[in-house]
Amino acid sequence: MNEFALIAARFKPLASDFPGSLGLSDDAALLDMPPEMQLVVTADTVNEGVHFIGDEDASLIARKALRVNLSDLAAMGAAPWCYFLALAMPGNTEESWIARFAEGLHEDQRRFGIALAGGDTTATCARAHVTITALGLVPKGEALRRRGAQADDRIYVSGTLGDAALGLRCLRNQLPRNDFLETRYLLPEPRLALGAQLRGAATACMDVSDGLAQDLGHLCAASGAGAEIWTDRLPLSGAARACAEAAEAALCGGDDYELLFTLPPQAQAPAGVTQVGIITQQKGVRVYTAQGGELLPASLSGYRHF
Ligand SMILES: [Mg+2]
Repeated sequence: MNEFALIAARFKPLASDFPGSLGLSDDAALLDMPPEMQLVVTADTVNEGVHFIGDEDASLIARKALRVNLSDLAAMGAAPWCYFLALAMPGNTEESWIARFAEGLHEDQRRFGIALAGGDTTATCARAHVTITALGLVPKGEALRRRGAQADDRIYVSGTLGDAALGLRCLRNQLPRNDFLETRYLLPEPRLALGAQLRGAATACMDVSDGLAQDLGHLCAASGAGAEIWTDRLPLSGAARACAEAAEAALCGGDDYELLFTLPPQAQAPAGVTQVGIITQQKGVRVYTAQGGELLPASLSGYRHF
């Protein structure tokens, strides 16, 4: 079987349940929008050597590429609808790699209720990269935004922070190998149910992909406000606590894909989230330790691509 036949065999089935894909047999997808819904669209690329190491199981690469997009949909309070895949891989890629890649997508499509609607597969002379564009649906006017946080709102995060950054260090043998932490890096958990639950409740929301301190700065800038957070409140997993760098990873490490959101002071927080600070009138993000010391902004930069 040649590469194109394999792609047809592997990727067409991912689109078969979604009428708008036209079975991947036309030049483009044709989508009928459900009435009273708004479309939420996001695109994320994962690159070999940056977002994945390259020797992972291809199914994990596929699932991470899809999940980082789903996390953006969750951050906007949207429900997954369909996605487009642009896959560039070296010409000598093994058929078994493509098969595993498609299997990973299939598994997560079922898990998160999304289908392939179209895409493009190309050969590259460079390393592999995967771009997924995901479409989600949200009732008109109800999407979560970064811009609504007000002074005295409480700042919350879902799950635990820092695991993924520590997991990457484990995979690079800079820390002892640890399955839990490595899985948190390889396979983030998009918080779709929480995002939907926060519609109409959260004053601002985003997902944490580049470190809490930096991303909270973005939320504050969009809201025209500032924030104070406390390092002794950071939610850390047991595995993270065993690492000396846990707090630094939680503040500055990337790839958490947890939700960061604000609620008014009187609002009841959903289960499974942790208050890490408070929105302030004073601009900027200030980080305080349990001893009351303030960490300097220079020590708090998150992941930057450039
Ligand atoms: Mg995001």
